[in-house]
Amino acid sequence: MNIQAKNFIGGEWVVASEGASDINPSNTGDVVGEFARASAAEAEAAIAAAYDAFPAWSRSSIQLRHDILKKVGDEIIARKDELGRLLSREEGKTLPEGVGEVVRAGQIFQFFAGECLRLAGDKLPSVRPGVEVEITREPVGVVGLITPWNFPIAIPAWKIAPALAYGNTVVFKPAELVPASAHALSEIIIRAGVPEGVFNLVMGRGSVVGEAMLQSPKVSAISFTGSVPTGRRVAQSCITADPMKKLQLEMGGKNPLVVLDDADMSVAVECAVNGAFFSTGQRCTASSRIIVTEGIHDRFVQAVSERLRTLVVDDALKAGTQIGPVVDQNQLDQDLKYIRLGQEEGAKLVAGGELLSRETPGFYLAPALFTEVDNKMRIAREEIFGPVATVTRARDYDEALEIANDTPFGLSAGICTTSLKYAGHFRRNVEAGMVMVNLPTAGVDYHVPFGGRKGSSYGPREQGRYAQEFYTTVKTAYSFDGNGPYVPKTKGSE
Ligand code: ADP
Repeated sequence: MNIQAKNFIGGEWVVASEGASDINPSNTGDVVGEFARASAAEAEAAIAAAYDAFPAWSRSSIQLRHDILKKVGDEIIARKDELGRLLSREEGKTLPEGVGEVVRAGQIFQFFAGECLRLAGDKLPSVRPGVEVEITREPVGVVGLITPWNFPIAIPAWKIAPALAYGNTVVFKPAELVPASAHALSEIIIRAGVPEGVFNLVMGRGSVVGEAMLQSPKVSAISFTGSVPTGRRVAQSCITADPMKKLQLEMGGKNPLVVLDDADMSVAVECAVNGAFFSTGQRCTASSRIIVTEGIHDRFVQAVSERLRTLVVDDALKAGTQIGPVVDQNQLDQDLKYIRLGQEEGAKLVAGGELLSRETPGFYLAPALFTEVDNKMRIAREEIFGPVATVTRARDYDEALEIANDTPFGLSAGICTTSLKYAGHFRRNVEAGMVMVNLPTAGVDYHVPFGGRKGSSYGPREQGRYAQEFYTTVKTAYSFDGNGPYVPKTKGSE
């Protein structure tokens, strides 16, 4: 195998002995490239390089960090079409979605370039006379970043940019399925002038490279986005490690979209179709559980089913495609397994669910909608991560809210209603990290916190200024001014 794409370790591109092919899910005959797969020893070399680079980088000028991140952001945006095409080719989301994700990644780097210049602390009087208290933030150390395949450039960006901005050094392990986007992003970061060892790319297996990061005492913190079982494994390793590692997990979702009788029908249908099926449903914020009140249920189901039949499922790179293929055979098998299971559980498949053949061999699946879904069914409880959504009937708003909260997850939740009363109550009472009113559950801004509750997330939020909770550690410094405690003079003592 001719491995064209190497790992970047300690300031050098390193040839790996092992590699893997990156396959286009819209056309399995199209090989995007051959990418290196790092060994455990290579991962350890990357960690050692990041560890050695930390003291200097953690004290580097904020102007230098700003300039590097700004350069990265600017180059990403300038090359959005080319990078978006690469992303869509390897991951399978449509070209407009791919380009949009690339722009998002660029904006994230630009945002954190600004954050380098805005880092602040607090200075307070002490409760003790003559003493001052200063609270500052310092970088954490070497951070290991483990990312999934569904946002191949945006998720790496929202971990790498704050990590570097706040003075940490980075070991970045992208998902096995999407090395091309990770490699292209890394080239840009390296070209922008990060000093040797500050940023390392180690493409490879989770069980090899990821494990090496979890096992190394030189890694101080792990930020992980991926599945629940792997997240649990990561958490266990971080907590039993000596020293323990700081930890941030973003895992699955089973996000409810509540549609009330008083909803604007066209808004509700667009929220449901966009939230559940765009990006082939492969978003942790996807509206996989649609909860609809009695009065609008049948009309809503009919309107969504009709809209689904008009969606164009095809090659991600083709103009006019609205839904690209599923990412690979494993994910497709999982989607089909749940579609069978839903039917066995007694739910009614009212649209899609069948394999589609297109000009090129790919993993094409018609967006599937189930109705008559009881919230206890496995298709309503477990994350499928594909173009499959369920509709559950609710008597009224109260029951809809109860069903929305009856889930092990808590990432995003949405409501479609024209009632201020219900919108306000839902915002306050739904158990999720993010709430959307008359908007799809997926689709977020880059300058505000992202994250969930319950089984969806663990540790501090990602993105926006809140990212500093994970990527910095707080120091509280007390200083005595040497003048002794101040004693006020009393009258008559002059
Ligand atoms: P997905 O189903 O989205 O691929 P995973 O949780 O399997 O979700 O993968 C998310 C990321 O975690 C990937 O980069 C993967 O390589 C990595 N990973 C998988 N297993 C481990 C592990 N044992 N330790 C650390 N990282 C892992």
